[in-house]
Amino acid sequence: MTPSLERWTAERSAELYGVREWGAGFFGISDKGELQVTSSPACFDNAVSIPEIIAGVQERGLDMPVLLRIENILDTQISLLNDSFQAAIQSLDYRGSYLGAYPIKVNQQQQVVEAVTRHGKKYHHGLEAGSKAELIAAMGMLGDTEAVLVCNGYKDEEFVDLGLHATQLGFQCILVVEMPGELPLIIERSKALGIKPILGVRVKLSSQANGLWAESGGDRSIFGLNVAQIIDVIDSLKEADMLDCLQLLHYHLGSQIPNIREIRNAVAEATRVYAGLVAEGAGMRYLDLGGGLAVDYDGTQTNFMSSRNYSVNEYCVDVVEGVMTVLDEQKIDHPIIITESGRALVAYYSMLLFNVLDSARFEPEPLPESLPEGTNIHIQHLFETLQVLNIRNVQECFNDILYYRDEVRQAFNHGKMTFRERALGDNVFWETINRIASLAKDLHALPHELEGITEALSDIYYCNFSVFQSLPDAWAIGQLFPVMPVHRLNEKPVREGLLADITCDCDGKIDRFIDSQGVKRTMRLHELKESEEYYLGAFLVGAYQETLGDLHNLLGDTNIVTVRIKENGEFDFVGELEGDTVEDILSYVEYDTKALFNRFRETAEEAVRQGRITPIQRRETLRAYKNGLQGYTYFER
Ligand SMILES: *Cc1c(COP(=O)(O)O)cnc(C)c1O
Repeated sequence: MTPSLERWTAERSAELYGVREWGAGFFGISDKGELQVTSSPACFDNAVSIPEIIAGVQERGLDMPVLLRIENILDTQISLLNDSFQAAIQSLDYRGSYLGAYPIKVNQQQQVVEAVTRHGKKYHHGLEAGSKAELIAAMGMLGDTEAVLVCNGYKDEEFVDLGLHATQLGFQCILVVEMPGELPLIIERSKALGIKPILGVRVKLSSQANGLWAESGGDRSIFGLNVAQIIDVIDSLKEADMLDCLQLLHYHLGSQIPNIREIRNAVAEATRVYAGLVAEGAGMRYLDLGGGLAVDYDGTQTNFMSSRNYSVNEYCVDVVEGVMTVLDEQKIDHPIIITESGRALVAYYSMLLFNVLDSARFEPEPLPESLPEGTNIHIQHLFETLQVLNIRNVQECFNDILYYRDEVRQAFNHGKMTFRERALGDNVFWETINRIASLAKDLHALPHELEGITEALSDIYYCNFSVFQSLPDAWAIGQLFPVMPVHRLNEKPVREGLLADITCDCDGKIDRFIDSQGVKRTMRLHELKESEEYYLGAFLVGAYQETLGDLHNLLGDTNIVTVRIKENGEFDFVGELEGDTVEDILSYVEYDTKALFNRFRETAEEAVRQGRITPIQRRETLRAYKNGLQGYTYFER
């Protein structure tokens, strides 16, 4: 893996890291080899350099890692979804309309919900709440009474009452019945408060979706009513003289549905149910398709679970067409179509930026020309294998050295070999593995046993972030995110490595990377320089990653910086949230940090009493402790 002299260009980096494929037009690489980001793919001319943003962040005194949000990417995505539905509605002569409802759980941060309600206002983009706390946030944030406020999730009396009050205030607040037991409570509370509710039902569809989150849809889903239960709802509402209140049919197949066929099947099935409800005399107005609109994380445009085989435009056209086909057949009015897309709106707008602290290489020390007299016989065998290794006996030599390596270990464990001999044995073994790996590159078909050899020899880059805090889905459910360097992109990346975080957990790593041919176990990286930081980014992390994260190893929230890109290609820092301090984190896990400090002071005073330290050293120690409490939880340079 020696650096070669061939010319490397920004273009080759773009290909290598698939920027055009996953970037959806938001990302590109400048001639200077810097990753750029724009808020509007239509004019990449106003793109700004991410290293420049990093420099600005550091000048303001914030350390890496930083979660960077590009505020107006969110605006662009809200417009894309609404405009695409609008276009589909017009081109197909659909006689209903479209309303979006942003599901708060996808990213609950106030900044996000604020942006959705502010920019979404011209489309009457509403909100979806799945819990009491989310409903309370939504009622405070949503000023638009033409937008919908969809209430999903388990509802207790307080939740139902809040929803009814919202309706009374003029909100299009829809209480969706998810469980058979909820209806009697809703009927009772609406009678008690004298407020007529707007009701929906969530149907369990039998159309099964594939993908990581598939189980939230389909017959086995936890939420929703089957058709027989919906009939019960109709009968109960009739009895209470409230059938006109039932206005919405809801389903949610699960998030990240990669295959358009599954989306179409579900639309067809749900529209049949909708037609059935109309025939039963319910006051139907809305058909709510839930979430599922996927993000092409790996840029392959396939039905692979981290991708999608359709565009936003196709999604909208297929949905509108699917609804029309069923309803026109039965001469039923076209409803207002609602979708609760979350992931597709917010994924692009955040990226995690971090520096690399160090790297480890698995390269043996140079070997002697020949082995010293009396070297252990197994090491001699290893050494001889290395001498005879060539392209024709790769497999055979590989088997041999595995055998001899085990013999070396045995000998060491039984006390028949010294510490230094063991080191020599390991060294010869790794040198041979390295040679095998480079010979294996020229083999037409790689023997089964040799698969994964490059991975075993790859570098480890130690990176200043926590997977558990910032990319929880990468750890928990094996979700892929695009990861790449944000600078030096006109230099050839000559190393092959995986990324380890700074938690001391062996799961704290990224070793699955996007690839046009499937999933790669390592990625190409640049050689580290002594005098210069090396910055990487993990992209499309705006959905679900911010609050699912945890405090593993007490690494807390990162610094968050929000930037707005201007039309002239400049950018403004519009928001800055400092990450957690050590003190913050300790208090989250119920420490009383004052008491902690006092206790530590006593320990230090005891050390003075025993003559271990001087009072002046005590002062130094306490100052260091206090600084630590007030510092960032990540590695600070
Ligand atoms: C999670 C969820 C969504 C969001 O799904 P995305 O695939 O992120 O758009 C929408 N509706 C409901 C009911 C959900 O639970």
